[in-house]
Amino acid sequence: MPDFDAIVVGGGLVGAAVAYGLARRGKKAVVLDEGDIAHRASRGNFGLVWVQSKGFGVPEYQRWTRRSSEDWVAFSAELQQETGIYSGHERPGGVTICLTEAEFAKRSERMAQLHLEAGNTGFDYEMLDHAALKKRILAIGPTVTGASFTPYDGHANPLTTLRALHAALLKRGSVYVPHARVEHINAAPNQFSITRNGVTYAAPRLVLGAGLGNNPLGKLVGLNVPVHPSRGQIIVTERVQPVLPMPTLMIRQTVEGTLMIGESREDAGFDDTTSPEILHTLADRAVKTFPFLRDTRIVRTWAALRVMAPDGLPIYEQSREYPGAFVCTCHSGVTLAAAHALHYAGYVIDGALPPELARFSTRRFDVQAAA
Ligand SMILES: Cc1cc2nc3c(=O)[nH]c(=O)nc-3n(C[C@H](O)[C@H](O)[C@H](O)COP(=O)(O)OP(=O)(O)OC[C@H]3O[C@@H](n4cnc5c(N)ncnc54)[C@H](O)[C@@H]3O)c2cc1C
Repeated sequence: MPDFDAIVVGGGLVGAAVAYGLARRGKKAVVLDEGDIAHRASRGNFGLVWVQSKGFGVPEYQRWTRRSSEDWVAFSAELQQETGIYSGHERPGGVTICLTEAEFAKRSERMAQLHLEAGNTGFDYEMLDHAALKKRILAIGPTVTGASFTPYDGHANPLTTLRALHAALLKRGSVYVPHARVEHINAAPNQFSITRNGVTYAAPRLVLGAGLGNNPLGKLVGLNVPVHPSRGQIIVTERVQPVLPMPTLMIRQTVEGTLMIGESREDAGFDDTTSPEILHTLADRAVKTFPFLRDTRIVRTWAALRVMAPDGLPIYEQSREYPGAFVCTCHSGVTLAAAHALHYAGYVIDGALPPELARFSTRRFDVQAAA
């Protein structure tokens, strides 16, 4: 029976980030991951490392996200040093474009709220009118009203990030087991084992990092993880010359030169197919924002499923019934990859989550259920 320091279920961005975080602290993790049929948000996402839309009314989320965005710089450099793989991470700041006066007014209110809620930790932002935005992004169309800007935002290539995480955790002696869907867990406090394909993996720590799979898996170790799918659709264009010096919430230019257009949200169950209506809406807004896109060819479209809690916040918890079993799940797994690797993994080893993550506990669902 191979013995490990931790079993991590799920090899997407969340599971791989935590497993790498364990490995970089000298712990040996085994990552048990389902096959390619699974709904993998990590391979179908937009790639923003995004701060400026996070945590209205929940300053803990704003702080955690910003910490991760700050850590991304060192995290990306570390991954590249470990593996030679560039995550594609850049942090030039980012903008949320407003196409009408009403959108601009609402956005201004939101940014002021984030600033207020940040207290003395500060929150730098600018509301840019059309002329000020044009100075930063020349390609904007004449009908764009303006945008909010923060220096905290950036983007990365989620596919190379995932590849780098896997390469790094293997290099550090951890193990990845593909085609290993977990359906049963033998659980006792600080003692877990899972048998797959005739092999039993045992460890004193268990981390559920299985995205939408965390809902049924949580029940096996006394964790209530009510995540549900939220579909997002994405359009990718041909490569063009560099036109976007920074990402926007809905459109970003990759290091390769393609433009990604996204940020739709639908409740479509586990249906991960695209729909012409949503793609049309995305394309229409994109052309209004950047008119040159009218002459740019679309090369691919796809849909993928976000991993969403009822209130949209991450879920971080340790089982009270089976101490040593943790869940780590969120709807912004690119943004939070640095926090999961550099911090969450340490909490798993310590066997306790810190007070600053208490807001993300599953206890909030007990309160909601009782209300
Ligand atoms: C359209 C779209 C756009 C997005 N844009 C962004 C963005 O710009 N920035 C950002 O930060 N985030 C973004 N996200 C969210 C981000 O992609 C997810 O938060 C992240 O990928 C979640 O990673 P995960 O590892 O939790 O889940 P997944 O990628 O779904 O991976 C879960 C893994 O667990 C495995 N698994 C599931 N059940 C089991 C089981 N029982 N046994 C074994 N293995 C199991 C699966 O095989 C899979 O490999 C976006 C998501 C979508 C869909």
